[in-house]
Parts: sequence; C-alpha cells; structure tokens
Amino acid sequence: MYRSWLEVSLSQIEANFRAIRKVAGAGVTVMPVVKADAYRHGAVEVSRVLEEAGARWLAVSNVHEGIALRESGITSRILVMADFLPANRPLFLDYDLTPAIHSLEGIRDYERLAVLAGKSAAFHLKIDSGMGRLGTRASAGEILDVLGETRAARLEGLMSHFASAPNYTTSQTDEQIAVFTGVLNKLKEGGVDPALVHLSSTVPVAYGRTEAWGNLVRPGHAIYGYVSPAKGASSACAVEVRPALTWKATVLEVKDVPGGAAIGYGGIYTTSRETRIAVLGVGYADGYPHRLSNKGQVLLQGKAVPVLGAVSMDLTTVDVSGLTVAPGDSVTLLGVDGSESIDAQQIAKLAGTISYSVLCGISSRVVRLYV
Ligand SMILES: *Cc1c(COP(=O)(O)O)cnc(C)c1O
Repeated sequence: MYRSWLEVSLSQIEANFRAIRKVAGAGVTVMPVVKADAYRHGAVEVSRVLEEAGARWLAVSNVHEGIALRESGITSRILVMADFLPANRPLFLDYDLTPAIHSLEGIRDYERLAVLAGKSAAFHLKIDSGMGRLGTRASAGEILDVLGETRAARLEGLMSHFASAPNYTTSQTDEQIAVFTGVLNKLKEGGVDPALVHLSSTVPVAYGRTEAWGNLVRPGHAIYGYVSPAKGASSACAVEVRPALTWKATVLEVKDVPGGAAIGYGGIYTTSRETRIAVLGVGYADGYPHRLSNKGQVLLQGKAVPVLGAVSMDLTTVDVSGLTVAPGDSVTLLGVDGSESIDAQQIAKLAGTISYSVLCGISSRVVRLYV
C-alpha cells in the first residue's frame, strides 16, 4: 500500500498519439515530446509504447534524458532540444542523439567533433524567430557561410518555437512564422533545403494552424491528454485526447473534531461546526501544490471534498463530514471518480499555475503504476 501513487494508462497515451497523428495527416511526422520524464508519466515506459505505436522520433530536453532512453533500448531518433552544453557535445555522437543547435559557434564545434569522430552527424538548427529564448538570430547569409564550411555535421532540420501559440488575439505567432519562413526561403535560395522543418508544439496542431506545421510537429501536452485553452478566435480543437494519468492518495486517519477547531499549520482554517476530517498521505513534497491550501478539492466516493487548512510537506487534510471513511481508503487528487473529475488544468487554476507545472511537479516520491 502506498501513501500516494500514480496510475498511468499507456493505452491512453497510445490513443492520444494516434489521435494526433490522424489530425497531422500523412505528410507530417509526429515527434512526441517525452522530456521531464514524459511530464512525469515515465519517459522509458511512455517511449516504449510510442515507439511500438510507430513513433520514429522522440524529443527530450537534455542529453542525459536521451542517454537514459538509449540505455533502456529505445532506437527511435531522439532530438535533444535544450542542451548543447560544450561538455555534453561528445555524448551526442556516442549515443546517437540529435542536437538542436542554437548558435553558429555550436555548428562549428559540432563539425569539429564529428570530424574528430569520423562520423556524419545530423543536427537541427533552432531559429529564434521571436520567442527570445534559445535559437540563433543569425541571418540566413551568416548561416549559409557556416554551413558552407561544414562537411561532417549535417543540417537535417530547421526548427523554431512559439511564445504565444494559444493566444489568437496577438499577431506574435504570425510574425514568428514570417521570420522563420524568411530564413528558410533564403537558405533554400542558397542551396540548403533541410529535410525536416518544424515549429509546432501541441497548440498549433490542436487548433489547426497548419501553416506552422512544416513536415514535423512536436506535441507534448496532447500526448498526455491535455490541450491548453485558446484565447480569442481560434478554430475548434481538432485533437481528441484524454488525460492518461490518475493521482491518488491514501487516508491515514479519520476523526471528528468539534466546531471551532483549528486545522493544520498556521491555523488558517477553523471549523464552523463538528467536522469529520481525513488526513491524506500526500503533501507538497509529493508535488501537491501548497497553493491548494484551503482551496483544493479531492474526490472521494464520487464526491468532491474540500482541502481544509494548509497543505503541508507530507500531509493534507480534507473535510469528509457525512461520509463513512476509514484509514486505508483512497482519494483521487487528479482523475475521475464516478461523475466527478479533476484534471491538471483545474488544479492549476486553483493553485494559480499552469497544468504543465502541476504534472511536472509531481515528485519522484509518488510511486508510478501502469494500468
Ligand atoms: C516542451 C516543448 C514542446 C512540447 O510542448 P507542448 O506544449 O507540451 O506540446 C515542443 N517544442 C519545444 C521546443 C519544447 O520545449
């Protein structure tokens, strides 16, 4: 028995991948993003299922995530999107990982390493089309100059990333597409035609911004069953995906306290009448947000019951008045119970954060089970 655990549905992950592939269509490769331990769903298990379902590419953030996949037998291409640290560069060649390079210096250095290793080494070049984060802001001419001197390092993909994809009230995405397309066209005029062109994470795929797809898309959130709501006049969401993760916690103790009793750290909640409380074996050290203090809800016997007082490091108290509950019973923190459900977006809203942060914030202390 565990204090708190995750139940991950690998068949739902696979169904989500297939739903995205269907929307993307035959000419667009879907590269699932399995960084951050597959948004806490388990990178190895998720990658195995996706590979079996036909994924030819996977994306991670850092080289060590890529190595862990290689060491567990994943043979798909792996794009490492945000780790081209000088000290880690040789590892790309050792483990057959594909870097997203984000500077001209990076291309020159990768060329040097590939020559040294006697290998042809594919890389993707990330363009900063206006997000102002990773990516080169060099001109197409400068990029062509460097590519003209590279032999062993081979530009396979040109990529970028959007800052405001769900926001249809700003022109930022269109401007980024224009900047990116400008660079791509000039590279083509210069005789460089990357085989893969990609800019889109979940949102531009889900809302059908097809001009941003190129021939490869990089969904993460949707693989796990989530699409952020769009702001403004977007098309309807075209991908039908469902959350694959359920998060549960066990009741450690149940007791009746009188009216006027303070509950938990700081006494920030006081009962207004006799109240039956259940103390759960989960807290912010497990990733249950502290910001859900006096705000969160969990599901028990098909009902939503409120969090009372402060979420503490290892414990959270809920109001179970009127219910018959015993130690060892389980509650659902995230998932479905009867006709009630709570997903990461609802938790995020209550906690003043984003659903990505709720999922990635579930700590490794929470045991993961596959169903
Ligand atoms: C995380 C990430 C993605 C996936 O984003 P989602 O919104 O989860 O689909 C795609 N591309 C890059 C560069 C990323 O960092």
